[in-house]
Amino acid sequence: MGTDTEFGRPDFWPVRPIQATVGWSRPGAARRYGDRHDVRYADQERSTRNVQLSTFNGVSERAVGGRDMGTDTKFRVFNRNKQAGLDRSRGNGHADRAMLDKPVLFDSLTRQLPEAIDLLRQMVEINSWTENRAGVNKLGDLTAEVFAQLGFKSEKVPSENPAWGDHLVLIRNGSSSANVAMVSHLDTVFPPDEEELNNFRWQIEGDRIYGPGTHDIKGGTVMMWLVLRTIRELMPGVFDRLGWRLFLNSSEETTSHDFGRVCRHRFDKNTIAALVFESEGRRGEVRRLVVARKGRATWRVTVTGRGAHAGGRHPQGANAIVELGLVVQRISSFTDYSRDLTFNVGLIRGGGGLNRVPHLAVAEGELRAFRADVFEEAKLALLALGGPGEVRSPADGFPCNIDIEFLSETAPWPRNPATDALLEVWRRAATKLGIEVEGEERGGLSDGNLLWRAVPTIDGLGPHGENDHCSERSPDGSKVPEYVEISSFVPKAALNVLAIGFLAGQSGGLAETTV
Ligand SMILES: [Zn+2]
Repeated sequence: MGTDTEFGRPDFWPVRPIQATVGWSRPGAARRYGDRHDVRYADQERSTRNVQLSTFNGVSERAVGGRDMGTDTKFRVFNRNKQAGLDRSRGNGHADRAMLDKPVLFDSLTRQLPEAIDLLRQMVEINSWTENRAGVNKLGDLTAEVFAQLGFKSEKVPSENPAWGDHLVLIRNGSSSANVAMVSHLDTVFPPDEEELNNFRWQIEGDRIYGPGTHDIKGGTVMMWLVLRTIRELMPGVFDRLGWRLFLNSSEETTSHDFGRVCRHRFDKNTIAALVFESEGRRGEVRRLVVARKGRATWRVTVTGRGAHAGGRHPQGANAIVELGLVVQRISSFTDYSRDLTFNVGLIRGGGGLNRVPHLAVAEGELRAFRADVFEEAKLALLALGGPGEVRSPADGFPCNIDIEFLSETAPWPRNPATDALLEVWRRAATKLGIEVEGEERGGLSDGNLLWRAVPTIDGLGPHGENDHCSERSPDGSKVPEYVEISSFVPKAALNVLAIGFLAGQSGGLAETTV
């Protein structure tokens, strides 16, 4: 039976179960991995790099102790001719070895897809608008229940805003201390009455499933479930050996920052990666994974002028709206696409009546950038607009005053070597599957912005869909609401399963070239 492992290696996908022990404690193997690591992480990423290094070292050390465990663990060993089979491989005292065959992987996923879609339906049918606390918690309960069947224990962490639902943390400890974080969220942007008004609900049309949260992000949560279930089935060694830490934000759509702390407190030096299951981007047939996201700062400009009767005392007035008009033009002109910097004036209000020179006008908006230096410069440019304005009362030169304040800030997740190293793992897996992936720098925020400094982070691991945050369908059908594509689940899940298998191999300190 052990000879099965010898068949057709070049055509197999070697996925080293992390129970495999031969070579882990070999100094040579450890050194080689360390070297490779140095190449991949630049000096400025020293903190990340140290985390990674200790991860590898930590697992390598523990691998000695794990030797016994490998021998009583069953591995599924597949070969091209038989396509599938369950074997027990001890291979002359050498490492146990799991090999994953593409048709087997796709068969397994295709078999599980109806169950996954049904789980998605149950999730979509629960309204979990951020402000619907009961709905978010109900979805949390369902999610905890489903993952409990995979051996996950749940913990509910109250949001810092008591009006919102609880964050959900799902933990399954592994027999090693190496662990992988997976991140999704529970909430959607759709209030129940909006869903009703637009008849926006679970609806399958061809390859599309319309409905609130179908790809942002309940499809992503279902993807996590499908991936983990498949790893348990096809790579039970990896499933049991790794620890899994799943984090579901109750209020991602409000960019709540306490969730970042919830995650980071539960990461440790053996957390290999944070995998975020926001939806996949596409460029033609190329699947796009998110490797950077813009930072975002929201701001308010308050202009205080001097009120006056518009008929009798017009020259005494300093018109706050006119001043604000000048200010927003200037703010808007700060947008610089060549540096991926955008300013958006999103809201404006002011004045109290048509017969009054207005004394107050307010604008709010946001700015976004990928690069930290551009982001900081932009904030300073905005602040520099504060102080006395140009608009003065004709009577005595009383100036309008401009006050600038920042309301919230989420720092950029810039392109960085740790994320790029993860992209490389997914790209290798994609090559094995015959599909193409590339990195995408995305303008929108995700919880990835809060995590990338703590552990290597990659995003966009969910299924593909379009029109997130939209519930309306135009009468002519040219505009449709949010939907997910059913056909995107299986290939993406295969990609994630395989890439995680590679990650597990790496965390064990095994060079794949030795397979
Ligand atoms: Zn969203």
